Amino acid sequence: MTTERTEDNERNEGTGRDADHGEWLEALADGEGYALVCPEGHGSLPPRRVCPECGSTSLSREPLPDAGVVETFSVVHVPSPGFADDAPYVNAVADFGPIRLTGVLRGIAAESDAVEIGRRVTATVEERATDGEPLIVFRSIGER
Ligand SMILES: [Zn+2]
Repeated sequence: MTTERTEDNERNEGTGRDADHGEWLEALADGEGYALVCPEGHGSLPPRRVCPECGSTSLSREPLPDAGVVETFSVVHVPSPGFADDAPYVNAVADFGPIRLTGVLRGIAAESDAVEIGRRVTATVEERATDGEPLIVFRSIGER
């Protein structure tokens, strides 16, 4: 089990089991991203053993939908050190059915009007320009 740092991508809520998160990233990179879903339909991401909403321990792996929808975003001009060579970039939150993902929207200029709420995106894993660390990346789909 590695102890690699993942100081970004909002991984501060879990229990620090980065191996599970790494496994999940690999699945996403292979186009097999999934959410953990309890019988009540609450979605969460690894590492989880218990539903954070209702406490259920019956979590099943449900495949993510092919497309998500951008819910909110911000253009980052002054990055943290891990993103020094990536800026400016678009940090976005996208709705993927049972879960929301936080990632970087690529393929659209950060200052473009095409960066907008409601844009349909796919989620994949690419490398940070700064240090090659894996990163959740959204790519726009559909019309330009
Ligand atoms: Zn639940």
